[in-house]
Amino acid sequence: MRKNLPREGWTYLQQIDTTETGKTARCDICNKVTRYKHLLSHPKAGIIGVGCKCADNLTGTDIASKKDKLAQSLESRSTTLLQSPKWKHRGNVYELSHKGFVINITETDGWYSLKLTFEVLKDGDFPIWETQSISPKYRFSSMQTVVQYAMNCMESDYYAKYLRNI
Ligand SMILES: [Zn+2]
Repeated sequence: MRKNLPREGWTYLQQIDTTETGKTARCDICNKVTRYKHLLSHPKAGIIGVGCKCADNLTGTDIASKKDKLAQSLESRSTTLLQSPKWKHRGNVYELSHKGFVINITETDGWYSLKLTFEVLKDGDFPIWETQSISPKYRFSSMQTVVQYAMNCMESDYYAKYLRNI
């Protein structure tokens, strides 16, 4: 816990989901247990990790509380998707078609890798649909985290404008 910190002049850095670290995280200011830690930096006080209320107070914004809401919403929608009866499961491969994407997850030794396939429109005189895919280089520790990652990609504006509406 840190005291006598400046009350203003903080810059928001990032949000960390501490469930992935496996340790109980506490706010550096009020010592409350917090799942999401928000890193703030100050030219004189350095970097601190705080809960959403303290982050909002110090930055004078609602950046942290908005990020927490988004993260919670993403998590609950991912849980719903994960429970869909439409998943096809063969051996160590799980596959689901969802809103123009094919989510393909392969489990190896308790780790999960993702391949997300979709069709995009190629520029040219004729509309040609081209199949593309995203395969992050790293592996995920659970189906929940891999589906959350996939959902983030599927909902990003970048893909929305190219996607074939199925
Ligand atoms: Zn706090």
